[in-house]
Amino acid sequence: MELETRVDSLMDGLRADLERLAAIPSIAFPGFPPEPVEQAHDLVVELLRGAGVPTVERLDLPGTAPVVYGEIPPPDPAAPTVLLYGHYDVQPPGDAALWLSPPFEPTPVEGGLRARGIADDKSNVIAHLGMLRAYGGRPPVGIKIVIEGQEEYGSPFDEYPPTDPERFACDAMVIADLGNLRPGTPTLTTGLRGAAEVTVEVRTLEEPRHSGEFGGAAPDALLALVKVLATLHDVHGDVAVEGLLRESWTGTTYREDEFRSLAGVLDGVPLIGSGSLGERLWSGPAITVIGLDAPSVEHAASAVVPYARAKLNLRFHPLQNPKEAQLRLVEHLRALRPFGITLTVTPGDTGPGFEAETGGPAYRAALTALKEAWGEEASYVATGGSIPLVNGLAKAAPEAEVLLFGAQDSMCNLHAPNERVLFSELRNTVIALAAFVREYAADFRAEGGRA
Ligand SMILES: [Zn+2]
Repeated sequence: MELETRVDSLMDGLRADLERLAAIPSIAFPGFPPEPVEQAHDLVVELLRGAGVPTVERLDLPGTAPVVYGEIPPPDPAAPTVLLYGHYDVQPPGDAALWLSPPFEPTPVEGGLRARGIADDKSNVIAHLGMLRAYGGRPPVGIKIVIEGQEEYGSPFDEYPPTDPERFACDAMVIADLGNLRPGTPTLTTGLRGAAEVTVEVRTLEEPRHSGEFGGAAPDALLALVKVLATLHDVHGDVAVEGLLRESWTGTTYREDEFRSLAGVLDGVPLIGSGSLGERLWSGPAITVIGLDAPSVEHAASAVVPYARAKLNLRFHPLQNPKEAQLRLVEHLRALRPFGITLTVTPGDTGPGFEAETGGPAYRAALTALKEAWGEEASYVATGGSIPLVNGLAKAAPEAEVLLFGAQDSMCNLHAPNERVLFSELRNTVIALAAFVREYAADFRAEGGRA
């Protein structure tokens, strides 16, 4: 049977399993009950066993929800091994009043289903399952499947895989925790920006002083901090800190109207920065003031402010070293003396970016597979959000090609109220995964296997 027909015949079953999985409130955050997390774990194990995965085990790592780990040995020694990743835990639903239907009652919407976690990432767990079913549990490659239970809250996968490289050894991995630039546009995510935080503080007076009696000579800490923050961008809104990498973006990106609508930019408000959106969002830096300690307007007294603090979030080029990028921002801030005042600058957490090697057989196979599934050429995009586990897995299998695609799309309200997934994207992702392993197995053999 043609692959497409085979997948279509599986869709009713996959939809039913997705509904079962999405009805479980598997939130691995502190303060939420652990039973549903266990329940989702058990269901994933049951589904994988049912799809013909001969070995499925439970990995209990310290301080995290159980990981489902399954293996299908390669059909013969010349076949490559593909690692599939997804997660069964979900974000908390947030304010229930903002949902159009109860977050853990999967509800039909046009072309899909609405529920918390139904896209991120239960759709991709089901997509992996669909691929295995399409081959009756005997795909033309060896499979390692890792379905994590605590991705949304302190995933162990940024640290753990390199400590157990044997388990994660593979020739290619499909990290399915994202999806398409827009529904219907097949998308490979090839870059992730890195992230770093820096806090800057200004202290000028022992305590607040009457603004009438002292203002004009006593230094206002908040005003000094505002001057500092104003140096981070130029008049166009481009980052003005020296030494942060910025390159032109060669892949696909959002249309401006599409981006404005996704970001919820109000009418009449311009976007900031110059150059293509891909460059501003993915291959260049961004600095956001994510927190500010200062008196609130509501409780404002007529006093000179003695102390102010801001927390900055820096996003940087996928290939820039995190500590180096952070140091650039720290040095920029430490060199400033607003009104002659010395600042206290404290570096915070950093996370590396990621850039995929796209020249190998797995990428060739994926390009063919995505085109087969969606009927058009795949686009390369990046994302501004970092996914630390990508680096953890890539470090564990440094020779493996890393592919990021899946059944989500940028309009599916991830981490927001009314999350939804589209059946068209789920179906096409199953076809893409199935076509990928077929193409990759053939190409891998033709190239004479592992180097
Ligand atoms: Zn996710």
